[in-house]
Amino acid sequence: MIVRRQTRTIVLGGVPVGGHSPIAVQTMTNTDTRDVEATVAQIHGVEAAGCELIRVAVPDEKAAAALTAIRAAISIPLIADIHFDSRLAVAALEHGAQGIRINPGNLGGPDKLARVVAAAKQHGAPIRVGVNSGSIEKDLLKAHGYPRPDNPTALIESALRNVRLLEKQGFTEIKISIKSSDTLTTVSAYQALAKQTDYPLHLGVTEAGGLIAGTVKSSVALGILLYQGIGDTFRISLTRDPVEEVRVAFELLRSLKIRERGPELISCPTCGRTRIDLFSLAEAVERFVQTMTKPIKVAVMGCVVNGPGEAKEADIGVAGGNGVGIIFKKGKLYKKVKEEELLSVFLQELKLIEEGQ
Ligand code: SF4
Repeated sequence: MIVRRQTRTIVLGGVPVGGHSPIAVQTMTNTDTRDVEATVAQIHGVEAAGCELIRVAVPDEKAAAALTAIRAAISIPLIADIHFDSRLAVAALEHGAQGIRINPGNLGGPDKLARVVAAAKQHGAPIRVGVNSGSIEKDLLKAHGYPRPDNPTALIESALRNVRLLEKQGFTEIKISIKSSDTLTTVSAYQALAKQTDYPLHLGVTEAGGLIAGTVKSSVALGILLYQGIGDTFRISLTRDPVEEVRVAFELLRSLKIRERGPELISCPTCGRTRIDLFSLAEAVERFVQTMTKPIKVAVMGCVVNGPGEAKEADIGVAGGNGVGIIFKKGKLYKKVKEEELLSVFLQELKLIEEGQ
């Protein structure tokens, strides 16, 4: 059983993070933030997939100004990601950012940081101290070396140093991330940091890669940490559409039995017994269940010999026969349908379940 690490709670635009709050799923847009229409469209897509916090890059004044219109058109809290420029951080907050991600140490000194903290306080916006292996201060690298699995100290010291800069300004609405592109360094760094602070932690493996490599790396690192009760919000980083990041995030939470969203799809790998085009069928069913919200188990199996038995826990399933498909419920035969009609009949059954009939 997972025992969650106890942390303080911060509230980001109405969404609590930390404490006993559900572990929040977030992602980041990859549109040009100045392009309000494209950014809003992408945020609507990730909202539909269940995303609970959205971060956008704010590289210039125009991007900061666009936040007003973006925030007005979306329903989840908006976080601005800022590098180096304190004026942009203040502008983002003035234009409606409900949280910011900065590295307090690289904003240009205490006076500039003070202006950002004042604006964050005024707008009730928490700050994420986001440290990456690539952004660690030179003196810490010299003292502790580049972060590695057996010694991630530089990452932790950098994060805590930046946290102290905010605390000195009387600011404690903080969450922390210490990202590395190395799976094992990520694990050991967060494990060590969790022992040294009770601020909520944002987990992530940075520059994790494409769909397969990124999903595996993130799932290994974040799976270990979440299983140990570490982590209050997270992003799966993939070189893909952010909707995919959100889907992977919820699958990860589901596989750890932490949170469920929508149906769980079980499908067999197929073998020499398969007599129908199961890959196409499974793909079409997968697309459809992504639009559903009921937390049911759906099975797509290649044969009637083993399929229904293997998937007897499924609420509803389909198994391929010879020119026919068998629809089953809880492992029991429900309907026999010709292969040509199988997909449409099965989707209709799923639709009825979603509508509660
Ligand atoms: S369910 Fe049937 S087709 Fe699929 S892997 Fe098992 S035996 Fe093979």
